[in-house]
Amino acid sequence: MNTEELWGIPRKTASLLDFLDPPSPLPPSPVPGVTCGPMFQQAGRPGWIEVIAGVMFSGKSEELIRRVRRAVIARKQVQVFKSHLDARYAGLFSVSSHDGVTVEAEPVDSAEEIARRLRDTTEVVAVDEAQFLDDGIIDMANRLADAGVRVILAGTDVDFRGQPFGPMPTLMCIAEVVDKFQAICVVCGGPATRNQRLVNGKPALWDSPIIMVGGRESYEARCRHCHRVPRQDEDQTALL
Ligand code: ADP
Ligand code: ZN
Repeated sequence: MNTEELWGIPRKTASLLDFLDPPSPLPPSPVPGVTCGPMFQQAGRPGWIEVIAGVMFSGKSEELIRRVRRAVIARKQVQVFKSHLDARYAGLFSVSSHDGVTVEAEPVDSAEEIARRLRDTTEVVAVDEAQFLDDGIIDMANRLADAGVRVILAGTDVDFRGQPFGPMPTLMCIAEVVDKFQAICVVCGGPATRNQRLVNGKPALWDSPIIMVGGRESYEARCRHCHRVPRQDEDQTALL
């Protein structure tokens, strides 16, 4: 037997496969609606952050709505917020999926407004379109989770250029649970991880504004290989 250490862990055998053995099966999750890892099986106290990330059309709002509905069924006190910038589909006062499923929501224009609207009794806070909020949402999510609140944040993790979007990367880092969804690339049918912005049916230029709210008319889900973000001086015809 080889007894040398690997990353401070005594090695019983020479094989790295020892460290990759699947863990023994976990008991069922006590937390409704959460994809639980081992941590939540052991947690004695409520309060954590879940992030639902992915491109447009990847099903983030559907998943947020599903978790909110299950929390309501579990008789939790739930408050749902969304960025005031998103008034698509069912309007400003609800979170709606691209397929038309909705749940009521309070539109907010800052993290500070969420703080002002929070009720003392709230146990679950869900926020859709979190990428549009200011960085104050990071500290707020941490403080709420520390205080025992379940915080669910859904948002597009990359902007139309494929770059990290607003507070999303940091939120994904501080979260206990991160789910990153893919849509279907409308060009090749592969897993889509990019938001293709279109202006008059053509790929939007790299230096256009980061925030431009729109639906099917202005955005497509695409994979990295089919995603196009031309620079000003590029030959546009080669990019279509
Ligand atoms: P998101 O919040 O991530 O923008 P939604 O939850 O609003 O996504 O919508 C997801 C739904 O959008 C899917 O269930 C599917 O019916 C529909 N949809 C439309 N276009 C696509 C696509 N290109 N890939 C996957 N789903 C799509
Ligand atoms: Zn593709």
